Amino acid sequence: MSLVVVGSVAYDGVATPAGRVDRMLGGACTYISLAASYFTPVSIVAVVGEDFAQEDAGLLASRGIDLEGLQRAPGKTFFWAGVYSEDMNDRETLATELNVFADFRPDLPASCRSKPYLMLGNIQPALQRAVREQMSGARLIGGDTMNFWIEGQREELLQTIAGWDFLLINDSEARLLSGERNLKRAAAAIRAMGPRILVIKRGEYGAALFHDGGAFSLPGYLLDTLKDPTGAGDCFAGGFIGSLAERGVTAETASPADLARAVVYGSVMGSFCCEDFGVGRFRTLTRDDIERRFQEFRRLTAF
Ligand code: AMP
Repeated sequence: MSLVVVGSVAYDGVATPAGRVDRMLGGACTYISLAASYFTPVSIVAVVGEDFAQEDAGLLASRGIDLEGLQRAPGKTFFWAGVYSEDMNDRETLATELNVFADFRPDLPASCRSKPYLMLGNIQPALQRAVREQMSGARLIGGDTMNFWIEGQREELLQTIAGWDFLLINDSEARLLSGERNLKRAAAAIRAMGPRILVIKRGEYGAALFHDGGAFSLPGYLLDTLKDPTGAGDCFAGGFIGSLAERGVTAETASPADLARAVVYGSVMGSFCCEDFGVGRFRTLTRDDIERRFQEFRRLTAF
């Protein structure tokens, strides 16, 4: 069941207590599609500049990701830089340079428009909406956002998420979006904005899921090695929607068990992402590794 992913394809500069890389492949779309590619066929919709390296496109292609919707435009690829706190729970953004994304007008290839699954990764809300409007046959639509857009383009964002089936967001962003400190109340306020399925990600502490059938809460996976949390939220999104797409679950048919399972796969993919800088972990990760960690989650949470 094919998935379309839109979002940033970027170069990132990252500094964490485990080290620093000044420029490496990143971007929400990149992380989501790499993670989802272990579960379902993926097509991406994004733009890169003339500086985008062939070997980076090659990594995406090596995971079977369809690049027909990846435009190349004159100018530079989106660039983001950030530095993490000592415990890696917080980060400060040092640079956000939209570059070629500033003028990007997504025009989906005909092959993408009828696909059933759509994941709108973190990017300008107007772009997310433009892609959504071209997908006439989508059966499960959702996305992600961040403080940059909640603060900078709130009205645009509210109009955009009103038509989504699910929203994935982290706890501080949920508070910012809803104006509520209490997470349960924040969840109720956000679900009233449109997305009936809501996942609030809580970094190393796990994730909470809210839907019409109730709530589900999962602790974080206890990692031996944490090098770089960049992209963990996006990999969560890739595992979440990828595992739903793999089983053909739609907004109408999604059961509490389907959604809980998707949250576990999301957490598994987010945890792998943190084990290396950038997309490094995806160069060797296998589906067997993913299944082993999924079973570890079962043992970790059973009582
Ligand atoms: P995450 O750690 O899951 O929040 O995702 C980090 C990724 O998001 C990085 O690879 C960045 O390139 C990308 N990113 C950061 N800020 C933005 C933004 N304002 N719009 C789009 N993508 C962004």
